[in-house]
Amino acid sequence: MRPALRARHGAVTMADKSCCGFLPPFEHFATNAIHVAQDPDQWNSRAVIPPITLSTSFKREDPEKDQPYVYSRFGNTSRHILEEVVGTLDGAGGQGQNWANLAAADGAKYCLAYSSGVGAILNICHLLKTGDKIVCTRDVYGGTRELLNKLKKEYKFKVAYVDCIDPNNLKAEITPDTKLVWLETPTNPTLKVIDIRACADLAHRIQKDVLVAVDNSFMSPYFQRPLSLGADISMSSGTKYINGHSDVLIGLVSVNSKELYEELKSLQIALGAVPSPFDCYMCNRGLKTLHIRMKLHFHNGLAVAKFLESHPRVEKVIYPGLPSHPQYHVMQKQCTGVSGMLSFYIKGNVKNAFAFLRKLKVFSVGFSLGGFESLAAHPATMSHASVPKDEREALGISDTLIRLSVGLEDEKDLLEDLGQALKAAFE
Ligand SMILES: *Cc1c(COP(=O)(O)O)cnc(C)c1O
Repeated sequence: MRPALRARHGAVTMADKSCCGFLPPFEHFATNAIHVAQDPDQWNSRAVIPPITLSTSFKREDPEKDQPYVYSRFGNTSRHILEEVVGTLDGAGGQGQNWANLAAADGAKYCLAYSSGVGAILNICHLLKTGDKIVCTRDVYGGTRELLNKLKKEYKFKVAYVDCIDPNNLKAEITPDTKLVWLETPTNPTLKVIDIRACADLAHRIQKDVLVAVDNSFMSPYFQRPLSLGADISMSSGTKYINGHSDVLIGLVSVNSKELYEELKSLQIALGAVPSPFDCYMCNRGLKTLHIRMKLHFHNGLAVAKFLESHPRVEKVIYPGLPSHPQYHVMQKQCTGVSGMLSFYIKGNVKNAFAFLRKLKVFSVGFSLGGFESLAAHPATMSHASVPKDEREALGISDTLIRLSVGLEDEKDLLEDLGQALKAAFE
């Protein structure tokens, strides 16, 4: 530890000359305040919980020697541990570092964290250049669509939207200039399910080096691992299920290819959209209960879906965990379970939809999803308000469509709340 500099009497320098007849300042005050007990080499307290590394700079062991951390945008311990754990959870099998196989620490799984999900998507798009083509599934997250449309309009990217529910629709669009296929499953808010394996295999067969990316925000790696289904990139808005507590914006990208990782890593540094160490700490903390939360989201989601499906005021329920869902078999084939996202059409008209939303007590009406609290949304006037009405209707987003993010409250209270609001919506 660095010893305190002791004040000596005598020699008063220019800097600490007294003024106005007071005593001179105490010597070394500022240097002591800055350095005493702060020695960078001492942080090995063996704390069980990872510390939050707020430092933007890391002391060089030797000016000529490389070291793991130099400047916080490039990397820091808080971000690093989050990237390691998410990469492992997103992993495609036994090659990466995992609890049963800690010795293989240099396995092939890589993860990068960003300041938001959209920030992560923007970084991925920077792998492409003007004139390159992106093939995107048709009903994609609104923020993704806006970003792609901007790239198309302002930066002359080619963007084609395809209904990927039938993977064969990709065939005509994957041309030699196609560099990225963007999938999202289940989709928002109509929860259509895409067969990741079928799309990835088909895309790679037509064009070996096309990148297939999957937005996995609705599922989390607990229920779905796109890399193990043939995708090249698994992207998540960690803001949703992964953090799960509605208090952090964060984006996460996992890949298996070292080359792709290195390209993304240099973009992460160059573009600078990195999460704060505190947000990394929070997200790492949220992850510790991801498996428990996802099991309960599934349990409550299924209970709500069954309740609504048998309710006389409900026209139709869309929940990928119900056998009535058209892609239920795809879901069973590629997922270990289903999250708490579901949509339904209320009978009546838009007035009944709004009346229902107003009467909810346990569910809050609001944007976002994947937190422990139950939320309800009206996509036609909220997330998809900017989509023209005819296009919205074609996507199935009518005025009577309601989307729920079923949270972790008691099942009985959730069903009671929905029941009373459905009743009141028609009074
Ligand atoms: C929320 C969300 C995003 C964007 O993530 P942010 O963290 O809000 O930037 C992307 N895709 C899906 C499916 C989302 O739900």
